Amino acid sequence: MRQDGLYWGPMTQPRVVPVPCLSDNYAYLVHLPGSTDTLVVDPSEPGPVEAALAQHGLTLVGILATHHHMDHVGGNEALAASREGLPIVASKYDENRVPGVTKLVNDGDTFDIAGLHVRCITVPGHTLGAVSFVIGDAVFTGDTLFIGGCGRLFEGTPAQMYDSLCVRLAALPGDTRVYCGHEYTASNARFAAVVEPGNDAITKLAERAKAAGQNKEPTVPSTIAAELAHNPFMRVREPSYKARYGSDDPATVLGKVRAEKDNFRG
Ligand code: FE
Ligand code: ZN
Repeated sequence: MRQDGLYWGPMTQPRVVPVPCLSDNYAYLVHLPGSTDTLVVDPSEPGPVEAALAQHGLTLVGILATHHHMDHVGGNEALAASREGLPIVASKYDENRVPGVTKLVNDGDTFDIAGLHVRCITVPGHTLGAVSFVIGDAVFTGDTLFIGGCGRLFEGTPAQMYDSLCVRLAALPGDTRVYCGHEYTASNARFAAVVEPGNDAITKLAERAKAAGQNKEPTVPSTIAAELAHNPFMRVREPSYKARYGSDDPATVLGKVRAEKDNFRG
């Protein structure tokens, strides 16, 4: 049975191909094994996405936008220009700020595209229109949840980011694969080690990021269970965080961790 319980049948999970873009962004091709129809999540720029489509013999049938920042949607219009009617999906909140958007979604919306079932979870905090897309056992979190970190609070409040990370995304099955918008894992792990020294999961994350960097490999995917173990922004209810940041309110703690990270040079 699928994890969302909608029907009985063989479990076929999507194949996800990370496409490095710009300096440290990831776009992702997402398709069913055996199908050449593919989605792309967050195409910052068209060139690397077109090259990956050609390399893997895939046909682009839709774009998903996690939020309106140009390093996530900068390739939308160029990719759509040569593909008439290409669906471009974004949050209703971003109706006027995602280039080329054709389909607006709200929290809990589901739709089928490229043979895949997509579920939308609104996750305000980094921006107010941020949305994560759950596709089978994978979630695409944009700049909301990074491996070992989270995005800056450009538009939302600490309470919104707490709800997005620690209530909404944390409720996904622990083995859900996490694909985020940037390769920030090494510096996130250095910060996490300062916040929570002695956490073995953070030490392991730092080692994994270092090895990946040396081999020029991406650190994605993570999992929800791994983030709950090593990500400071998902661990704000832990007693050591209450003590370090002097508050019993987890949203307040999250705001203080975020402010410390904003000034962290490590
Ligand atoms: Fe962003
Ligand atoms: Zn970004």
